[in-house]
Amino acid sequence: MKIIILGGGFAGLKLANCLSNKEGIEILLIDRNNYHQFQPLFYQVATAGLDASNISFPLRKAFQESKNTSFRLAEVKEIQAASNKVLTDIGEFTYDILVIATGADTNFFGNTQLKEACFPMKSTVEAIQLRHRLIQNFEDALSTKDAAELQKLMNIVVVGGGPTGVEVSGALAEMRNNILPKDYPELDFKQMHIYLVEGSPKTLGNMSEKSSEQSRKYLEKLGVTVQTGTVVKSYDGDIATLSTGETIGAKIVIWAAGITGNVPAGIDSSLIVRGNRIKVDRTNKIIGSENMYALGDIAYMETPLYPHGHPQVANVAINQGKNLAQNLLQIQKGSEQKLTAFEYHDKGSMATVGRNLAVVDIPKPKIHFGGWLAWIVWMLLHLVLILGVKNKLQIFINWVYKYFTYDQSLRLLYHNFYKKKHGTQ
Ligand SMILES: Cc1cc2nc3c(=O)[nH]c(=O)nc-3n(C[C@H](O)[C@H](O)[C@H](O)COP(=O)(O)OP(=O)(O)OC[C@H]3O[C@@H](n4cnc5c(N)ncnc54)[C@H](O)[C@@H]3O)c2cc1C
Repeated sequence: MKIIILGGGFAGLKLANCLSNKEGIEILLIDRNNYHQFQPLFYQVATAGLDASNISFPLRKAFQESKNTSFRLAEVKEIQAASNKVLTDIGEFTYDILVIATGADTNFFGNTQLKEACFPMKSTVEAIQLRHRLIQNFEDALSTKDAAELQKLMNIVVVGGGPTGVEVSGALAEMRNNILPKDYPELDFKQMHIYLVEGSPKTLGNMSEKSSEQSRKYLEKLGVTVQTGTVVKSYDGDIATLSTGETIGAKIVIWAAGITGNVPAGIDSSLIVRGNRIKVDRTNKIIGSENMYALGDIAYMETPLYPHGHPQVANVAINQGKNLAQNLLQIQKGSEQKLTAFEYHDKGSMATVGRNLAVVDIPKPKIHFGGWLAWIVWMLLHLVLILGVKNKLQIFINWVYKYFTYDQSLRLLYHNFYKKKHGTQ
């Protein structure tokens, strides 16, 4: 059974791991990056809390011990289902079974101006670009004479009050409160404003009422200006205009307000639903197909418990990967009648705002807690989930060091890298 897996994220990697070294199965994993990215900690890379290598794991290393898995670094261009082919920028590959696990990208809802001017945080490279801009802005601020321009360099607007927006806002506020005044004593950091703008009435809208309220309280305690019930209508790289009519001058607007699935060309458009997700059955098989599956963020599966699809989180992706591996092994044995329907058991959700400030919701038994304990639980869980012993150790040491010193030594500017991506500083 020749299986091609598109995407080495949480879902694709788990599937490949579960099928690794299984008799009669040949796996080809294709990804446009040669590393797995631990997205939940992008915000710490963007705010110079962690190095990018701490949250990346080389995909080739992951399969050094695997006799049946190969990897190709390639951008998937198109799927030709009729001939069981995947077209990529390095050539075409044929499969018996195709698994699409290409995840999602930032959704700017078709607004090209926002896409051009805002900073997304949906890849390691984007997180590093944001870090560069952040640091460069303070360097620029030192030589700016114009007061309005200075204010724009100091202001940051974060769009979207979900976990990503909340976490990055909190981290930026901690940077401003504890680190930046020491690095830039000539600047007045009382003038640095962080605005979190959220369209719905509350932050962390998908979590419990208590978590929403507490996260807002924590953010405000750190000095973030939280504006709920408000959307950013436009941003031209200088001025963000809000739905209230208010304008904020800012050189950085971070867009964390939505995602859209990375659907490869060649998928029947009638199978693509809201959020650019592909409709699948309870075994993750693409509706109407015999040998194509979709997993993780890109998959849209309706179940009695989740009639509008599953949340796009790592745990769903990992568990779908596991379930599909078991089912593919049954199919290979000719035991199609033994396939298991996917059921998601939500173990809870959490978000961190800053040092000793986090929120945790557990559904069964229904428990909510916040503060120091939630923060410790958040850290432990992320340490368990991150790939690689070296990464776990490095992150742990980094966090302990930061806990005691408040400081990190990662505020580095790699000018050439930044210029290459932006053609400018
Ligand atoms: C900033 C941020 C914070 C998050 N925090 C949390 C959190 O705290 N907890 C949580 O549970 N979830 C969190 N999530 C969501 C979680 O990361 C996703 O649900 C999860 O990554 C989905 O896994 P996946 O395997 O479906 O896709 P991904 O992990 O996104 O993997 C997709 C892979 O496909 C590859 N790919 C995409 N298109 C192509 C192409 N055309 N050609 C080749 N390769 C391609 C990509 O390079 C990538 O490796 C967060 C997400 C973000 C962005």
